[in-house]
Amino acid sequence: MQIIILGPPGVGKGTQSKLIAEKLNLKHFSTGDILRQAIEDKTELGLKAKEIMAAGHLVSDDVMIGLISDALSQPGLGGGFILDGFPRTLKQAEALDSIFSKLKFNEVIVLNITAHKDELMKRLLGRKRHDDSEEIIKNRLRVYWEQTAPVKEYYSKNHKVIDINGIGSIEEINEKIIAVLKKVT
Ligand code: AMP
Repeated sequence: MQIIILGPPGVGKGTQSKLIAEKLNLKHFSTGDILRQAIEDKTELGLKAKEIMAAGHLVSDDVMIGLISDALSQPGLGGGFILDGFPRTLKQAEALDSIFSKLKFNEVIVLNITAHKDELMKRLLGRKRHDDSEEIIKNRLRVYWEQTAPVKEYYSKNHKVIDINGIGSIEEINEKIIAVLKKVT
């Protein structure tokens, strides 16, 4: 099973992805985590990504597509994983389609976690790191609505996209997701 998890910043994608991966024994790929690790390790990728991420912008499609293509091509991966934070643009979604067809991954499930914009703003401000200004948070949300929201429409054409209401406790939402996944697999 290849799960693609979509949803705006602050909706709980990362937390839910970790829980789903643990419970269903899937590998969890978070592009945000990979980039943060690269920054910490001061690799070439980290140096490229640092300023872009700090401003709430997106790292270039070419860099991200290369990164995820390498991650998914690793030997021994099998076909069970959850992608968290990728794809974030239509170009990335198209590239992922080619990667999946090349690697013969054809059990794709798209989850879309939703929440109202005001709720997201409240949550993001609540967990704001001291170096994040309100401006940067607004920027992240704007980038999401402009560049990432269309990815959901893209998948709606060829896949069943499962909408999950992201309001509620972490456990409640997770139980809902696991139940839905059990039903569709
Ligand atoms: P996240 O932890 O998923 O919110 O990602 C943190 C930041 O990493 C984002 O705000 C982007 O700057 C960058 N990033 C993560 N995934 C991608 C992606 N697929 N495409 C472009 N930038 C990304």
